[in-house]
Amino acid sequence: MDRTLPLSALQHYLYCPRQCALIHVEKVWAENRFTAEGRLLHLRADAGAPGRRGGVAQDRAVPLRSDRLGLYGVADVIELRPGPDGSEVPYPVEYKRGGPKIEDWDREQLCAQALCLEEMLGAVVPEGAIFYGKPRRRERVVFDTPLREAVEHHCRELHAMIEAAETPEAVPGKRCRGCSLRDACMPGASRRVETYLQRGLDP
Ligand code: SF4
Repeated sequence: MDRTLPLSALQHYLYCPRQCALIHVEKVWAENRFTAEGRLLHLRADAGAPGRRGGVAQDRAVPLRSDRLGLYGVADVIELRPGPDGSEVPYPVEYKRGGPKIEDWDREQLCAQALCLEEMLGAVVPEGAIFYGKPRRRERVVFDTPLREAVEHHCRELHAMIEAAETPEAVPGKRCRGCSLRDACMPGASRRVETYLQRGLDP
């Protein structure tokens, strides 16, 4: 890829392509309680010094990059776990406020981190974990072929949207309730305007 985008752009794209375009094309940003809590959680996760947890070495705030996917970012925590041949296997851990989701948004974001690590280190990264604030527990994520393919597919879609510099129409849904850009997006209003205009055009 010619352009590199932050890993957060992939996360925004998975949540809502319009939200992603508002942030990364139109440069609109607004904070709400959810984004503020998420930012503080990441700051806390990234702030600690490298150390050990249960005998496993941990690095924090590790820079990531993939030229192939056109992504860069920072991993909250990378553990180095003993592999079957005695080598160390990277194991990314991402911190999230809130709880596990049915959708693959968080799992894809973590898998994208793994693909960055594989490209940077020439290693195989088979799995990682997401630490959810509510409840305070880890969810193990296996980076299987369907998940890897989904990441690659969505990365291509993300880059095409940013390249075209077009903001998709709002598709109102449950996710709008937690969206910090709701005021800028006006999801219901844009639909109403669209309907109003359509009625005016209909014979
Ligand atoms: S309000 Fe809804 S449609 Fe608009 S950007 Fe947010 S999630 Fe997307």
